[in-house]
Amino acid sequence: MVEAGRILKFLEGFRWEGVERSAYKEEGSAPFKGISRQVLFSDPALASELRFFDIEPGGYSTLERHKHVHAVMILRGHGECLVGREVRAVAAHDLVTVSPMTWHQFRAAADAPLGFLCMVNAVRDKPQLPSEGELRELESDPKVAAFLGGAPKA
Ligand code: MN
Repeated sequence: MVEAGRILKFLEGFRWEGVERSAYKEEGSAPFKGISRQVLFSDPALASELRFFDIEPGGYSTLERHKHVHAVMILRGHGECLVGREVRAVAAHDLVTVSPMTWHQFRAAADAPLGFLCMVNAVRDKPQLPSEGELRELESDPKVAAFLGGAPKA
């Protein structure tokens, strides 16, 4: 028997009815700042999950890569993202796709949050963090270095 669908009403503060807001990752497991997670949808048959991540002004997700892919739809605010060596300004309704084993990070602006939906495999490999050598290599591109080290832009 297929379970009937359900409707999670959108609430104030970018919350959804009945959805717990939890930590982005285990504290100390990886570098990140000011980010929370809500799992909105998870279905074994579809084998995917839809999560909403909310980054506070000045916050950022972990710089990471992994075999699984992401489809990210920005829902609110604005900021910048790094995908591979590309640094782009992103804002509500932009769609960012991340290919396998591609370095990526999302950073909220100094004056705005950055909230996004992220579709992902339910069963997925663990994100990898850059080694010192990989980080140096990434930072050899001035645009990437400015993104990774820079103060958040307004
Ligand atoms: Mn990721």
